[in-house]
Amino acid sequence: MNYFFVPYFLLRKFEEQNQNYYYKNKNQLKKMARQETCVIIGSGPAGYTAAIYAARANMKPVLFTGKEPGGQLMITNDVENFPGYPKGIMGPEMMEDLKQQALRFDTEVNVGVMIEKVDFSGPVHKLWTDGGEEIHANSVIIATGASARYLGLESEKKFMNKGVSACAVCDGFFYRGKEVCIVGGGDSACEEATYLSKLCPKVHMFVRRDELRASKIMQERVLNNDKIEVHWNTEVDEILGDDEGVTGVRVINNKTNEKTEISLWGFFVAIGHVPNTKIFDGWLDMDKTGYLITKSGSTHTNVDGVFASGDAQDKDYRQAVTAAGTGCMAALDAERYLAAKGVI
Ligand SMILES: Cc1cc2nc3c(=O)[nH]c(=O)nc-3n(C[C@H](O)[C@H](O)[C@H](O)COP(=O)(O)OP(=O)(O)OC[C@H]3O[C@@H](n4cnc5c(N)ncnc54)[C@H](O)[C@@H]3O)c2cc1C
Repeated sequence: MNYFFVPYFLLRKFEEQNQNYYYKNKNQLKKMARQETCVIIGSGPAGYTAAIYAARANMKPVLFTGKEPGGQLMITNDVENFPGYPKGIMGPEMMEDLKQQALRFDTEVNVGVMIEKVDFSGPVHKLWTDGGEEIHANSVIIATGASARYLGLESEKKFMNKGVSACAVCDGFFYRGKEVCIVGGGDSACEEATYLSKLCPKVHMFVRRDELRASKIMQERVLNNDKIEVHWNTEVDEILGDDEGVTGVRVINNKTNEKTEISLWGFFVAIGHVPNTKIFDGWLDMDKTGYLITKSGSTHTNVDGVFASGDAQDKDYRQAVTAAGTGCMAALDAERYLAAKGVI
């Protein structure tokens, strides 16, 4: 028999050299950008729906959830208007279902990772995570959503989902037959006050100034509605409640400093939303409030291969089902774009 004897010290040296080679290349790899076909930014209904469609079209989507995995519905209890759940569903449960469906088709989900910077100047789009990783993508689907503005009161946080809501269309139904209030004086506040007046016997509307900022037609709808009482020059001092939830509100007249307490069940805030689109500033067309502008009837932005979906591009509907719908559209638009380029 012919044995080949390798001394131990030579074996170790060989291992070390290979280890050095491996680490050297690993570090280089770390510095090199990842190449991806389709990157999805955001994990609300729009992001996960885009992922389901993109993965089933073999686009190997890589999704970054950001700091709010699951998006806005993670902070709500019952969702009763998303089709397919006849008994309603808890927001976090629904988002877990959507995530599992995206994972089933091999979406790579990067939990907690933010996209911090983008460069859409070339044919291949560049993105950077908050961990410093650089990604090059043939297509990008934006699903970064929007955040409702709140007043910033401690009691607002305390009674969130226990009477406090920033979405009358979503939560108004839970207060039908009960007295409620809405804070705000713009178009959204007027629209939501009118919506609530169809469900509730009385809607108190607290307006900081002595006029409404809303369009003439929206103002008329509010001012001619017997069920809506507008409290001018009025600000919220405190939301009142107990273990069960909201029981009332204390307001202050900013002209007279007089404080008044009103008993009610539902507290709605309608002082605007902020779309999460700051990182796209300078690259993508947006309106003056920061909502991304898409080409009519599609999810195409002004940059080829970059598509926008969900609340980040929708200031009118802002619902889970419309976000999911545009997430689907974005994946189909991206698929057609990549196929035309010969990438897939
Ligand atoms: C209290 C409340 C109750 C609601 N109830 C209902 C309801 O009953 N029915 C209904 O249809 N709708 C409801 N809505 C509205 C619904 O939640 C939204 O319309 C929907 O979630 C929008 O989905 P989206 O996918 O566009 O974004 P979002 O759900 O807003 O998710 C945005 C995602 O983007 C991520 N993100 C943001 N920036 C970055 C970044 N730079 N990098 C990586 N990720 C990023 C976030 O982490 C998040 O995951 C409710 C909203 C609220 C606030």
